[in-house]
Amino acid sequence: MIKSTISKPITFSVYDLMGTFPNEKTAREHFEKVRWKGQPVCPRCNSNFRQYARKSPERVGYFLCKNCGKEYTVRTGTVFERSHIPLHKWFLAMHLVDDSRKGISSVQLSKALGIIQRSSWFLQQRMRETFSDGKMNLLKNEVEADEAHFGGLEKNKHASKKLNAGRGAVGKTPVLGIRERNGNVKGIVLKDTSAKTIQGELNKWVDKDATLYTDEHSAYKNNKFNHKTVNHSTKEYVNNKAHTNSIESYWALLKRGHYGTHYHFSPKHLQRYVDEFAYRLNDNNRKRGSMEKLDALLIKSTGKRLTYNDLKNSQPTYLKENGQYEMIKSVLKKVTLYNLMENAPLNKSVKTYNINNSKDVLAEAKVEKPETNNSEKKANLK
Ligand SMILES: [Zn+2]
Repeated sequence: MIKSTISKPITFSVYDLMGTFPNEKTAREHFEKVRWKGQPVCPRCNSNFRQYARKSPERVGYFLCKNCGKEYTVRTGTVFERSHIPLHKWFLAMHLVDDSRKGISSVQLSKALGIIQRSSWFLQQRMRETFSDGKMNLLKNEVEADEAHFGGLEKNKHASKKLNAGRGAVGKTPVLGIRERNGNVKGIVLKDTSAKTIQGELNKWVDKDATLYTDEHSAYKNNKFNHKTVNHSTKEYVNNKAHTNSIESYWALLKRGHYGTHYHFSPKHLQRYVDEFAYRLNDNNRKRGSMEKLDALLIKSTGKRLTYNDLKNSQPTYLKENGQYEMIKSVLKKVTLYNLMENAPLNKSVKTYNINNSKDVLAEAKVEKPETNNSEKKANLK
């Protein structure tokens, strides 16, 4: 029974999310609505004509395209394709990753989802594909740019891996961060910090009429923008408006994520981490409610399948050679969030998502509770 509707962006708790999508079926049906809006489209030939839902119990979720004669599901052509992880667990993973500003480690995620760490690592790498934003609008008005370096310290490396080429940023991977004040941020992994490389990226991502704020690094000199500099070495951090505080806050999160959550960003996957942290900070994402965030990620997930083979060259050796990972249920009977939910039936009002409403509102639906014990009765009276 629908009690009330609320139209402002709403933050979902994990509890709400799991109540709304308790199983594969509910998650799949939601994704079908978000992706196709009621009219299935064949992901192979793009036809929406004569698409038939399979009726037999073994083919639940499958559609047949009479145009090309092939079957597909809503996962086909998305990051979820051929994943053994149920869709509702993907939803929970997306929610957890999107909600944690400093990221979530694959170990922590594996515990929440009840899957092995290797599976959650692969899941996260796939998910990061959806965070990348190749078509972002140009950054405008006041834009800050700065570089940071990520990677192991030279002094900690094994002698055979040391570069012996100097100090400071040697052996680390440079990342260029560009941020519009009160707007979006873009992070780009660079091959070097030469003027040619850095200005090539600036020209690609920054509107030509923007004012650019940087430090006095020579690579920024003689660019085509209205350019203002801040001299970090003389502690001149706020020279009227010439500061780089906005981009610094992106580095602060990324560095905390690096040292505190993930411990290590391997250079081959660094761009994915950089994209993930940028995505969470970006303007349109911060203004969304939890459900809109999830739907935005679902839409972005299409056409971005990352296969195991794509990742293979940079795999640690302990991973399997032959493709997808299996999901191992309840390893060592650890209690996962899902076990907890099963043992604690929903006894409060649960937010459900009304996809048919054009305003993407959440409706509060009352769920009957099977039994109330005394302590709950007392709590209800308060
Ligand atoms: Zn087709």
